Amino acid sequence: MELVIKNLSKTYSNGVKALNDISLTIPQGMFGLLGPNGAGKSTLMRTIATLQEADFGSIHLDGIDVLKDKQAVRERLGYLPQDFGLYPRINAETMLDHIAQMKGIGNKSERKELVASLLQKVNLFKDRKKGLGTYSGGMRQRFGIAQALIGNPSLIIVDEPTAGLDPSERNRFYNLLSEIGENTIVILSTHIVEDVNTLCSNMAIICFGEVLMQGTPKEGLAMVQGKIFEKTILKSELDQYRKDFHVISTKLKEGKLSLRIESEEDPGSGFGSVPADLEDVYFSFISRKVDPITI
Ligand code: ADP
Repeated sequence: MELVIKNLSKTYSNGVKALNDISLTIPQGMFGLLGPNGAGKSTLMRTIATLQEADFGSIHLDGIDVLKDKQAVRERLGYLPQDFGLYPRINAETMLDHIAQMKGIGNKSERKELVASLLQKVNLFKDRKKGLGTYSGGMRQRFGIAQALIGNPSLIIVDEPTAGLDPSERNRFYNLLSEIGENTIVILSTHIVEDVNTLCSNMAIICFGEVLMQGTPKEGLAMVQGKIFEKTILKSELDQYRKDFHVISTKLKEGKLSLRIESEEDPGSGFGSVPADLEDVYFSFISRKVDPITI
């Protein structure tokens, strides 16, 4: 199974070109779609999820023409949008039962069994009678995955799922996602590099609606390995360093700035060579499009 996106473009009525000739091949497993806010990730996710039209281009899920045969896609799709409304007073069990019914599972005992197994899977069984409004951010996201899994989808889309989760909630969510990623296509859209590093076997970096890189994280690393150098500087020196070097990221450490640059040769000037990580790959590509971001 494969999702193939070709030359997809979308310009909103206010003139923003959210997708600019996007072509991507997304195989089975976890696929990380990485990009800063405003890159076009949600637009792409919503278009794949058949909730929005594109201006040009095509999307195929095996034999299915996604942009034309929307119903066939919806039958195979699980979608966890960035913001999903929850009825605060309804409990998880009732809500899942309701969604399962809407997705066409008419048999009551079949539904009961399915809802119980989903609640077990996402570790919410003991909280199944609690109102959704009482759930923490992590519990809400796990509930979101449970509803997305109804109907055994072969394509699952999760849009910025870990934003706002604390580290232990994030970890639990990672474990859950990695379990479901084995037999399906899971597209994980995020601006958090660690999400992709932890979970994804394939990835793409997008910015201003364009694909800057696609491949495995390992292939991404090979592109910058040996070219990343680091130095601690004073904040006041940053502007000068930006002029003299290709600064890809800056991190505050105890009031000082740890600067990472990309250079084909040893830059001297007190810089030391450091092993590249996926953040370097990300910032290497993004910094060619936008100003380096202080993280
Ligand atoms: P991301 O999910 O990567 O943050 P989006 O797809 O939400 O990116 O947005 C891409 C660009 O399109 C942004 O510049 C955003 O402001 C713009 N945009 C998104 N939705 C709309 C809309 N409905 N109307 C106009 N512009 C939009």
